[in-house]
Amino acid sequence: MRAPTRPRVAVHKFSSCDGCQLAFLNLGEDLLALAERVELVHFAEAGPLDPDAEVDLAFVEGSVSTPADLERIQRIRRHSRMLIAIGACATAGGIQALRNGADGAQWIAQIYGRPDAVASLERSTPISSHVAVDFELWGCPVSGPQILAVVNSLLLGAAPRDDADKVCTECKRRNFACVMVSRGIPCMGPVTRAGCGALCPGLDATATAATAPRKTPTPTRWRRSSAARGSIRPPSPGASGRSTARRRRFWRRRTRQG
Ligand code: SF4
Ligand code: SF4
Repeated sequence: MRAPTRPRVAVHKFSSCDGCQLAFLNLGEDLLALAERVELVHFAEAGPLDPDAEVDLAFVEGSVSTPADLERIQRIRRHSRMLIAIGACATAGGIQALRNGADGAQWIAQIYGRPDAVASLERSTPISSHVAVDFELWGCPVSGPQILAVVNSLLLGAAPRDDADKVCTECKRRNFACVMVSRGIPCMGPVTRAGCGALCPGLDATATAATAPRKTPTPTRWRRSSAARGSIRPPSPGASGRSTARRRRFWRRRTRQG
């Protein structure tokens, strides 16, 4: 009898710091166990190299920043039955997308001796801006348990769980004391997508929104509690502009409620 074939998996890197690929490597023994259940055909950081292999599942880290990236992601999509974007770079453009609001050509001219040798797209964009993405894992970086949960679901033939809830839910499930309540310091947990396991509150620090904004944040309530703890100050009397007007309205409402 023919042995059942294992699903073929690839891990691809685009413009990124490699931190999300490290989440695979940091799985340690779990990675060895995973390698017995799937066939890792391309994962440059771990060894196997076959970037054009036909695969059942492709993990993609990083954003699309160069013409070569653009051509490569389309090729990967054609060769993959399912494509999963991992990390803030792949799902939102990442740190490198900060240049989207600047004059990139001017930066290149100022930084590089041979600007004509640098091939760069005008904007750094998430994977879903160019090809269909079957699932997105948010985080900077993503965590090993997030990756394992997705792979396990797919191996069982189930849809991966989209954990779009806020970090506070993980914080409570793990029985951490709320640093906002117990120490009176502001925390981004209520407006940040779960997935990190509430790492920062677990270390007695406040969440810094490294995962991603929640899909349905509750910013008003968060602004009120943060304002109560002093992280949002009333605008100074001489300040102007749209955001200042918004802050003034917020403070007027707050003073009325108080
Ligand atoms: S999401 Fe963060 S950790 Fe992952 S590749 Fe991008 S910068 Fe690195
Ligand atoms: S510490 Fe932060 S993440 Fe945890 S429950 Fe409090 S506000 Fe939410």
